[in-house]
Amino acid sequence: MIKEKTAAELKELDKKHFFHPTSAIKQQRESGPAFIFTEGKGIYLYDENGTKVIDGMSSLWNVNVGHGRKELGEVAMEQMSKLAFSSSFTSFSNEPAIRLAAKIAEIAPGDLNAVFFTSGGSESNDTAYKLARHYWVLKGQPQRRKIISRTRSYHGVNVGATSATGLKPFRDFTSSLAPDFYYVDHMSPDALRELIKQEGPDTIAAFISEPVQGAGGLHIAPETYFQEIRSICDEYGILFITDEVITGFGRTGTLFGIEHYGVVPDMMCFAKGVSSGYAPLGGVVFSQALYDELGELSTGTLLHGYTYSGHPMACAVALKNIEIIEREQLVENSKVRGAEMLSGFEQIKAAHSIVSEARGLGLMGGLEFHPQPGAEGPLAPLVLAEAAKRGLICRAVVLEGQDILVFSPPLIITKEELQELLSILNAAVNEVEQSLQ
Ligand code: PLP
Repeated sequence: MIKEKTAAELKELDKKHFFHPTSAIKQQRESGPAFIFTEGKGIYLYDENGTKVIDGMSSLWNVNVGHGRKELGEVAMEQMSKLAFSSSFTSFSNEPAIRLAAKIAEIAPGDLNAVFFTSGGSESNDTAYKLARHYWVLKGQPQRRKIISRTRSYHGVNVGATSATGLKPFRDFTSSLAPDFYYVDHMSPDALRELIKQEGPDTIAAFISEPVQGAGGLHIAPETYFQEIRSICDEYGILFITDEVITGFGRTGTLFGIEHYGVVPDMMCFAKGVSSGYAPLGGVVFSQALYDELGELSTGTLLHGYTYSGHPMACAVALKNIEIIEREQLVENSKVRGAEMLSGFEQIKAAHSIVSEARGLGLMGGLEFHPQPGAEGPLAPLVLAEAAKRGLICRAVVLEGQDILVFSPPLIITKEELQELLSILNAAVNEVEQSLQ
């Protein structure tokens, strides 16, 4: 809670000076912020007026252990007081980065063993494309530079990550992107095979995919999809990269999303849940085989690294965050509550004809709406507004003609809190359905 006068002043300052990411610039400058959050506790956020809302998205799919974890703050303070920063370039190192790399190697699937740190998801993906291409240069096959991704995919906003993003509006937003990126239908392994044949297997560096597509509308691949993808990549010698930026660290009811499919990628990008958003951190885990080969083939310096790669404070926070995920069995909770969330969505669908589909894996779920003859536009934004009025924030995906509400509540959500979320959602869907009659 902040004083009324201060809140009004903050709103004006926000409108004038705070250029918001992923925002409607014009509207933002006119109306100012919808919420100025001042506090977070568990699954709840509190704004400047003391209004309490359920953070139905774990903010940006990332606050996996929930808000207000004092022990993460304490670890950050302790590490910052001891060693806030030192470089990881060349042969310099620090204890939290070493321990976190070893921990991630221990919990990552298969032989994913060597961790390259970044500050977030986009940097992780750009690192993966660049180092995949570097690998092929070292192998004497520099013509293997094409990167293939899936339609409806989202990989971030750096030039490389935007180029890989299958959602076309993100690419059309700017005039020129990185060359050599290609897209295949998001549900068809055959489409990948066809594209490889068409382009020539020896021109392709890597294929990248989210295990479950998040920002593109919560799309879950068929059960055999990634096994087929893995075998196609093996057949043509193409590197397989997974983007676990959302799906990593328990979100889908397994520690990493690809575990549902029983295959292991050559590189795995992560961010978000690794630190539950308490510090900016990301990275790429390389398979032992790939890391060994890079080591053997490389002669000079790896000309790639971020100032904050292996940031001591961020790594210390991530270590503690993973400890919490393990200690509180949050992966299991994600699985159990996730099944309840999906069944709640199914019930909402059964009771409302405007809902066309309910989807979910772990605590990652979506509700899709039928196009409505009487409606002026998509329904998801309307339901989202009704939900916000009732104390639940989530996200609408209306890109490429889709009309979907997506959810990813903190992995700590209890049975009762989940019922609260579902009951608000049900009321919001009800309100919109009634308004169309
Ligand atoms: N990859 C995926 C699958 C994401 O969902 C996101 C962000 O939502 C990113 C990459 C980009 O991560 P960041 O915003 O940390 O750069």
